[in-house]
Amino acid sequence: MPSPSPRFALRSRRVCLPDGVAAATLLINGERIEAVVPDDSGQWPNSLDDVPCEDLGDLVISPGLIDAHVHVNEPGRTDWEGFESATKAAVAGGVSLIVDMPLNSHPVTTSVRALAVKRAAARGKCWCDVGFYGGLVPGNADEIEPLIEAGVLGIKAFLCDSGLDEFLPATESDLRVALRILHKHGVPLLAHAELVDDVSPAAYSDERSYAEYAASRPDRWELSAIQMLIRLCAACPAPVHIVHLSSAAALPLIREAKERGLPLTVETCPHYLFFSAEEVSDGDTRFKCAPPIRSGANRAELLTAVANTSPHASSFNGSLIDTIGSDHSPCPPALKRLSDGSFMRAWGGIASLQLTLPVVWSCLRPSGVALSRLAELLSHRPAQLLGLHDRKGSLRPGLDADLCIWDPNEEWTVRPENLHMRHPLTPYEGRTLAGAVKRTYARGELASPERAPCGVAVLRTGIVR
Ligand SMILES: [Zn+2]
Repeated sequence: MPSPSPRFALRSRRVCLPDGVAAATLLINGERIEAVVPDDSGQWPNSLDDVPCEDLGDLVISPGLIDAHVHVNEPGRTDWEGFESATKAAVAGGVSLIVDMPLNSHPVTTSVRALAVKRAAARGKCWCDVGFYGGLVPGNADEIEPLIEAGVLGIKAFLCDSGLDEFLPATESDLRVALRILHKHGVPLLAHAELVDDVSPAAYSDERSYAEYAASRPDRWELSAIQMLIRLCAACPAPVHIVHLSSAAALPLIREAKERGLPLTVETCPHYLFFSAEEVSDGDTRFKCAPPIRSGANRAELLTAVANTSPHASSFNGSLIDTIGSDHSPCPPALKRLSDGSFMRAWGGIASLQLTLPVVWSCLRPSGVALSRLAELLSHRPAQLLGLHDRKGSLRPGLDADLCIWDPNEEWTVRPENLHMRHPLTPYEGRTLAGAVKRTYARGELASPERAPCGVAVLRTGIVR
């Protein structure tokens, strides 16, 4: 068990507080933030003169990032990624909590027994805090409530083929049953929102063609899935979270559902904000993900939705897009098939867990988005989604001292040797990004790949060391 950290203080001219960025000092006591003292509040209390205080100058202190969408793949596919490499990459990127998807581990987390196997696999290998989701698949309705009671932070379902035979898509009736249970517990459904229709897909004429790959997963699949989810959410208002929104064409539907007051929230991913289809070369399967990266015009619309906190003439208090999660989903390089460049056959998934903050900042900085909006998207709203906002996701007294200290002005170029994930194959290689993470704290502990693991399991029922 880690020994409690001593009382210490950190000061910066730019601290991301819930009501904006201010010069302030954070007093940390053990695992928690004890006090936040803005510079303009007067003097540092004399009683704290003996507390060591480090002045970080212009470095930003943000809440630690919460990445609510990570595929760790352990146990069973630890050659793809694992708790050690994923959480080392996380803390190198300012992330103090990741939540692991129920696939592509083996077994998939669709039962309490499988959750126990996964938690045992994670023990002692977490450099940041780790939460878990359960999975909804046909036939496991009886496991949903026990999974929630065992502490999962949400239930994930696919509406289309997941790529794994052991994680089949949920049917509409599976979803109805699960939503009743989720509503009772106030736990979110996380939905991969693509619904395949009857229109037969065109056969590939060139397996290396990115345009053909993107056309094989059209916008309308996302729209139909989101329409269905909104309908189900209206019938049973459990929290429904659409993961990895790619199609901006769905934004009007989302606006309408939010204006009706439905508990619908939406995640998008760094790659949909950073890349556009026009720049993906044929055969460069590092970019393959589902739903696919779409046009530059689509990207611009997503960026506007992410940046905008108060949509005009809107009756809901917030934004069309609530959270940004990495959807870090790596695989061994051979499965990416760069040798033949087949988009049809390559594994889909983009590896980027360590890069979320600089990628998103590089996208949003040119439009003048405030640091506090960034903290909302990357920390505060994910904490709310997971039901952890009384514990994590903001710099407030009483909350966990999860901190990300970073320089928003420093630019750096992504090189494989900078990356801690198991396979550094990523479409961001060679890209220059703005925003360099200097330090991460998890519950008051300095969390770094070079130090001992200090992460714990974060369950709905509490944290477990
Ligand atoms: Zn995913």
